[in-house]
Order: sequence, then C-alpha cells, then structure tokens
Amino acid sequence: MADSPIRKALPGHRWERVETMRYKDEGSAPFRDITRQVLFREDGLRCEWRYFEIAPGGYSSLERHEHAHAVMILRGRGRCLVGDRVHAVAERDLVSVPPLAWHQFRADADAPLGFLCLVDKERDRPQLPDAAQLAELRRSPEVAAFVRVGDDRDA
Ligand code: MN
Repeated sequence: MADSPIRKALPGHRWERVETMRYKDEGSAPFRDITRQVLFREDGLRCEWRYFEIAPGGYSSLERHEHAHAVMILRGRGRCLVGDRVHAVAERDLVSVPPLAWHQFRADADAPLGFLCLVDKERDRPQLPDAAQLAELRRSPEVAAFVRVGDDRDA
C-alpha cells in the first residue's frame, strides 16, 4: 500500500519505496563506490535521515560544511577522518562530525561500510579542500596516508 507508514526492510540494506541513488552528481566531488538512500525526508521533520553504503575500498568525498552529521555505522567496517584524526569504525559505532570539521569515510579493502547519517534538511553545500587546505591536512602523516581526493595526489 503506497501510503503505508511502514516500509519493510529488504535484503541487502534496502527498503521498500526507497530509491538507491548515486552518492553525488558525477564530477561534483571525488568519491568512489558509494550509494545513497534517503530513508526519511518528510514534512514535519527538519532533518533528513540517509543511508550510505561504500563498497570495499571505496570512499566518500573529503569535505566540510557548516552543518553537522550524526552517523551510526550499520554495516561493515572502515575508517573515518574527523577533523585532524583518523578513527577505525565498525557496526553500531556512533560518529559525530561537528560543523566545519573536515571528514571522509573509507571502507576497509575487504568489507563494505554502510552508515546512517542524520543531517539538517536545510543545509549549506559541502566545501572541498583547496590545495593549501589539503597541504595543511597532510601535515599529519596519519591524515596524509588516509585521505583520497581522486587524482594523482592520492599516490
Ligand atoms: Mn559531509
């Protein structure tokens, strides 16, 4: 029934009447092997609840913005950059991404990384690091080894 308040879970971390979309528009930011599902975007809510899934070895874009993220890892494992630190994350871990903190999620090479992400419905657009900001981030060897920006600077 189309107007049922219930959308049943389907195999493979999918849900009834939830479209699996590209993570972002092609070329808008560097990323690899990631899908996006908007689970809740409704009148009466000032937030959206999304599910992202990164395939093994994939990554989200390295970005920051004024809005915050509240994240729960739902599937698999990987690592995330928040601010200037890299953290290992696994199922049911909670991740707080504060305003203007640089962040990036990466799935481990042998596991997907699926996570719920709560975000303001009205929000500013992500900023990508310019060359100077990337150089500043890479002053930390840990961060330098972690971040992916989708070009030969990943080498
Ligand atoms: Mn973000």
